[in-house]
Amino acid sequence: MASALEQACRERGVRLSLQRRIILEVLQTAEDHPCAADLHQRIAGHGISVATVYRALNSLAEAGLLVRRDFGDGKARYERTQAQRHDHLIDLRSGKIIELSDCRLAPLLQAVADRLGYRLVGYRMDLFGEPVSPGVYP
Ligand SMILES: [Zn+2]
Repeated sequence: MASALEQACRERGVRLSLQRRIILEVLQTAEDHPCAADLHQRIAGHGISVATVYRALNSLAEAGLLVRRDFGDGKARYERTQAQRHDHLIDLRSGKIIELSDCRLAPLLQAVADRLGYRLVGYRMDLFGEPVSPGVYP
């Protein structure tokens, strides 16, 4: 029986090579949003070249299995595509990226689009902030 990952790859017409499987599994368990260099470091024991990591990331992102993020630090960062959308808050002091899944702005943005005569199909939002009290995260 095919795993959910194999099924998702088949549906998107992507061959699930060993390298891609390793990258997807590392991203599945990552609690941050690693860049290609971070990923290459994390899979160092598998003998996968950095060029292969970049190619795999591009293919998986094109297929919709990964999402490429740009948080303004000059690095493309990656995460697995999730069923539910989320936004991010970037801590400018520590660089920590906090996921926000409870965005109450969505209905407001939909109302703005409605008023302008558009059906909202998506939006991107990243918040950048500094902690008011050090060490306090949701
Ligand atoms: Zn995220």
